[in-house]
Amino acid sequence: MVKEDPLAFRFDCGAIWLNLLATQGRTFSASPVERLATPGRLAEWLERCELTPARPPDDDDLHRARALRETLRLLALATVDRRPPPAAAVADLVAFLAEHDDPIRLTADGHLRREPPQRTADALARIARQAVDQMTGADRFALRSCPEQDCRGVFVDPPGRRRWCPSPACASRGRVRALRARRSAADGGGGGAPSALDRPEHGEDR
Ligand SMILES: [Zn+2]
Repeated sequence: MVKEDPLAFRFDCGAIWLNLLATQGRTFSASPVERLATPGRLAEWLERCELTPARPPDDDDLHRARALRETLRLLALATVDRRPPPAAAVADLVAFLAEHDDPIRLTADGHLRREPPQRTADALARIARQAVDQMTGADRFALRSCPEQDCRGVFVDPPGRRRWCPSPACASRGRVRALRARRSAADGGGGGAPSALDRPEHGEDR
């Protein structure tokens, strides 16, 4: 088993908006892991994303970030599962974007840059627009969700080769469970095929 700091941010989901979803771990378990526990942690996360707002986040911003995260999560899972998105989540996202118009202003002192967001809400609006672009364009076909039922983390996997989300814990647990299932199937299958235990699982990892 790989040891992980459960409160560490994840930046390996393939896009900033997906990394925002991953600021909560084990979302569908009885005790989700909240990695955005304070405005300070939100400030730290935004800094890692190079989206530090001119004004530091406060409690309202933290609430806003978590609310947007859960709205995007509902929409992302519907997109991955190719089912209609929950109407309330769509309405929430539309309302959020309507309230936070953050025009693109570019500078090019050395390298191409966008002006930093003024407020945390502006930073979140950039992330929300990135999510909209990915979920409504051809890139949506590269979105996957983790099959671990307490995780269901969404990540980008253009080749379609990964089975679990980038969290090593999910892959470990999933593999152990799959092995047990195959063993019990082999035991209960009247002397079944031991080769099933040796066969490499297809498409589970790189
Ligand atoms: Zn997972």
